[in-house]
Amino acid sequence: MDATATGRADKIAVPPAPGADRFLALDIANSALTLTGGRVLDLLGTPGTAKAWLIAHQLAPVDARMLDQCAAQLRGMRKHIRTLIAARIDELPPPQSAIRAVNDAMTRVPTASLLRWDAAHGLHRQPSHPTTQVLDHALAVLCADAAELLTSAEGDLLTACGATPCQRYLLRTHGRRQWCSVRCGDRVRAARAYARRTGDAPPAARSTNVGSTR
Ligand SMILES: [Zn+2]
Repeated sequence: MDATATGRADKIAVPPAPGADRFLALDIANSALTLTGGRVLDLLGTPGTAKAWLIAHQLAPVDARMLDQCAAQLRGMRKHIRTLIAARIDELPPPQSAIRAVNDAMTRVPTASLLRWDAAHGLHRQPSHPTTQVLDHALAVLCADAAELLTSAEGDLLTACGATPCQRYLLRTHGRRQWCSVRCGDRVRAARAYARRTGDAPPAARSTNVGSTR
């Protein structure tokens, strides 16, 4: 990883890893993509891309204000969530700092949308947090989802993509699947075939792009 690419998230179609369509926490854990040559495309790299990520996941309104420090807070929480996922996979005790960060975020603001009634709308639900707490609310929702993922039976299916240098996590959908995308699986198979023929793995196969996974 020798560089960070930003601002190109909209131009690269990346299907979610298995399970990331159901668990927001898994999707944010996978929000830094390893590209060709080991470069990283960070979908939370700038306030603009971080805001786009939150809007795409219905965690922020389109008019939300996103500052540098907001994007940094999201990246910090991603790191904690990745640490917790890694510890869960390796069956190791997770660092207390990561547990604390998740609990702090979950308890800082209410995440439930409250029941309201008015003549214009009748019964409806409305977020209970003021718009100034958009980021806190997003973090709380993400962390509640992380807690659910890590403690649910599905957490047993967590694994890291086996196609180096891909750094995405996934839920194993069937048996022994250990990669996050068709592209990563093809790459692993191609590398294995090459290794069988030559007794070595090709450097190109180890650094091919995951950002354009299909
Ligand atoms: Zn992968």
